[in-house]
Amino acid sequence: MSGVIVVLGRQGSGKGTQCGLLEQHFDGVVHVSTGDMLRDAATSGTPLGRRAEAIMTAGELVPDDVMCDVVAERLVPLLESGATVLLDGFPRTPAQAEALAGMTVPDGIAGAVLLEVDVAEVSERMLARGRDDDTVAGIARRLELYEAQTAPLVEWFAGRGLLQRIEGTGAPEEVFDRLAAAIGGLVPLRLSR
Ligand code: ADP
Repeated sequence: MSGVIVVLGRQGSGKGTQCGLLEQHFDGVVHVSTGDMLRDAATSGTPLGRRAEAIMTAGELVPDDVMCDVVAERLVPLLESGATVLLDGFPRTPAQAEALAGMTVPDGIAGAVLLEVDVAEVSERMLARGRDDDTVAGIARRLELYEAQTAPLVEWFAGRGLLQRIEGTGAPEEVFDRLAAAIGGLVPLRLSR
């Protein structure tokens, strides 16, 4: 059975780490990270990558129409193959959420999980991680855009009865267990061998 589960949370809340672990542990679960896709495109020097690189470094958002095409191209075949997709980094704006609803017709979005970690802690985590865009100014700009554009999506999902809030602090294994329980309530999960 296929399905899309949206993983929401501030930058640095552990979405990428946790989605990677879930993908490893459960059969048929695929982690789709738009940030990773854009960074891979930038490394390969594709037209998308060249366009996205400066935007990412500045902490700004890639335009909605570009992102929606990129995601649809990856998501639709995965869903047709029966995968459970953990979508990390998309949607990030209300227009992207509407587009995602369109991509998942007729099944709809299976659910959304929000990894809750406060601003002070995510800022610390990102500075420690030190990715190219994890400069003091870049982090501040991304967190500002998160509050303005992405935080309203929490209500978008909650209003559709799709949202589960997960405490994102504590040991990574504990966060993993909370997430696995939440996701296991949405789609059947089978341990990988
Ligand atoms: P973070 O959440 O820490 O900012 P990501 O890896 O999710 O890291 O994204 C890195 C950058 O990629 C973002 O700052 C943005 O420029 C771009 N990006 C990723 N996903 C999207 C999206 N859905 N819409 C617009 N831009 C995006």
